[in-house]
Amino acid sequence: MTDFPASTVLGYPRIGPRRELKRALESYWDGSSDRLQATAAQLRAQTWLRLRELGLAGIPSNTFSLYDHVLDTAVLVDAVPERYRHLPELDRYFAMARGTQELPPLRMTKWFDTNYHYLVPEIDATSPFRLASDKPAAEYREALALGVDTRPVLLGPITFLLLAQAAPGSPEGFTPLSRLDDLLPVYTAVLAELAEAGATWVQLDEPALVTDLTPGQLAAVRRAYDQLASAGPKILVAGYFGDLGEALPALSAVHGIALDLVRGGLPDLSLLRGKTVVAGVVSGRDVWRTSPDVLTLVDRLRPHAAEVVIGSSCPLLHVPYDVEQETDLDPDLRDRLAFAEQKVREIVALSRGSLLAGPISAPVPAGFGITATATRSPYAIRAKAQARLGLPPVPTTTIGSFPQTGDLREARAALAAGTVDVAEYETRVRAEIEHVIRLQERLGLDVLVHGEPERNDMVQYFAEHLDGCAVTRHGWVQSYGSRCTRPPIIHADVKRAEPITVRWATHAQSLTDRPVKGMLTGPVTIVAWSFVRRDIPLRDVVWQLADALRGEVEDLEAAGIGIIQVDEPALRELLPLRQSAQPEYLEWSVGAYRWATSGASDATQIHTHLCYSNAGEVLAAIDALDADVTTIESARSGGTLLTAPGIADYSRGLGPGVYDIHSPRVPDVAEIEEHLRKILRVLPADRVWANPDCGLKTRAYAQVEAALANLVAAAARVRG
Ligand code: GLN
Ligand code: ZN
Repeated sequence: MTDFPASTVLGYPRIGPRRELKRALESYWDGSSDRLQATAAQLRAQTWLRLRELGLAGIPSNTFSLYDHVLDTAVLVDAVPERYRHLPELDRYFAMARGTQELPPLRMTKWFDTNYHYLVPEIDATSPFRLASDKPAAEYREALALGVDTRPVLLGPITFLLLAQAAPGSPEGFTPLSRLDDLLPVYTAVLAELAEAGATWVQLDEPALVTDLTPGQLAAVRRAYDQLASAGPKILVAGYFGDLGEALPALSAVHGIALDLVRGGLPDLSLLRGKTVVAGVVSGRDVWRTSPDVLTLVDRLRPHAAEVVIGSSCPLLHVPYDVEQETDLDPDLRDRLAFAEQKVREIVALSRGSLLAGPISAPVPAGFGITATATRSPYAIRAKAQARLGLPPVPTTTIGSFPQTGDLREARAALAAGTVDVAEYETRVRAEIEHVIRLQERLGLDVLVHGEPERNDMVQYFAEHLDGCAVTRHGWVQSYGSRCTRPPIIHADVKRAEPITVRWATHAQSLTDRPVKGMLTGPVTIVAWSFVRRDIPLRDVVWQLADALRGEVEDLEAAGIGIIQVDEPALRELLPLRQSAQPEYLEWSVGAYRWATSGASDATQIHTHLCYSNAGEVLAAIDALDADVTTIESARSGGTLLTAPGIADYSRGLGPGVYDIHSPRVPDVAEIEEHLRKILRVLPADRVWANPDCGLKTRAYAQVEAALANLVAAAARVRG
């Protein structure tokens, strides 16, 4: 029987075409508006109605979230840690998401290999799960009331538990997945509730199934879906961002499978017999138009499945809303692009066999041929040359950005609108740099930064100054909660026409006797946070960027900048999800980083910064980057870096973050001191740096000043 609508998407952006949700959240948090729920309902309605208007047949629901869909799932099954339970509903939700002055938030980390962050649920060995929210059914009914019969979407139980962490204090060796049998009844209950509300199909998202799973985990997949398949509605399991591989046979009981045919290949077709297959041929991870040639894949599937439906490769959460809004883009480039709206149109057209071939491929196909392995002198020699910097033990520094004030954003908007000229704008930026330098001097930091006031975003700024990259005006993509980024589009060969950061760095250095770090974004990160051309291999794009940055490093050094930081916060993000592909990736990505930095002389101290690195996993890669100093997120991830095997032998400078900058909470001196003492139990004082987890851009000055004063005081205490 075939009953699944002929075209669908697995999910849709939810921040709003004009970031309405961001604004509503931020004014709710600062107490200036109570329009949050109304805005949320409006955005949901708008999405359903728009998808219907575009002709999409299968419309998903429960893809909306006030902050994060993993957090929603934790709330749904009542996996709420005791410490938040006294708070009323919405306060509790946002306390878990963002923390309060008393309570740190849940840990946050990257969603698979995307730049989206989710909140990590804490699961303990005994707390009962129960159905604690009716969000999925309520949103289903909300859509129905508008005349739209939707397919509710849930995060699947396997991915939920695999992404969760064992709650602090759990017994040794406890894994959240061991609670699967306690969790399944709650899923069964939600499914029954959805069936009762009228849903015929429910989508369970299981991207974790495209990663390497152990035989025990595969058995859990089978157990879960054998059970859930008979809970009421028909089950569509969506395994995206890669191949389902070994997990596909374990899904034999379910009615439908959504395949990511952009990232993954065709599976063993015999496993699809009798099933509804959503052929994910329109990419949810890039912004390029789809070729009608993808229909050959669909044709290969048809004889084997009960029915084949055209869909997106993954939820469209990771692409912007509408390319038609980008009136400033070069029309030739714009013709090659598809954002969420255009992708939905493509899916509808493909389902009707009417998609026309358009201008798809990049016009400037050219590779890049650096094969040299780049090395600097051994670290011991460099360290000696860098002693000229005269730094104390446990030097204090920050990661680069200081708060972006409303003034700065206004000045940038005024520049874009033409009401302020470049000279006036630059005067303001220079004044801001001076302010940041004086503040850091006053606070007593050892290695200063210029604060990045000229940068709207650490990737976009470089994209704006490199040939071969384009930026958008409205192309916002949710990063976490109310935070969005506008990923640039790398569409042709990348070249640096002139120095990008030198005048800001030298201005900052001219104001102080203390060393100021030059600040660059690394090649892997620029690629990870951009949409990348697809006519040449990813590694070639990364190496082109590395070569451009190498020139910038050399120019900074020549201009008298003695410390240069090349950020690679996204190094781990691009790590392939399957282990078998990881060594090759690490080789070329680390190689590109070294190409970018190895032009520096021994006396120039190269720093790097990584975020959310689950550092244990990539310690070898951090080592291979060969930076003189690595600062890395650690406060929020509970210091997992410090227990990584081999950490005590790490021989260069290391600054595990001692202050979580993602939360408005200000840590006190004792807390930071405690972090530092923990670090000093593992690493010798001459290697340790004291710094926050990440850049301070998203915080307010009052929080930053207080926190950094405490950081400097804590460093002084441990030195003493
Ligand atoms: N230098 C950047 C900043 O401080 C690094 C940000 C990041 O790691 N994401 O903002
Ligand atoms: Zn960071």
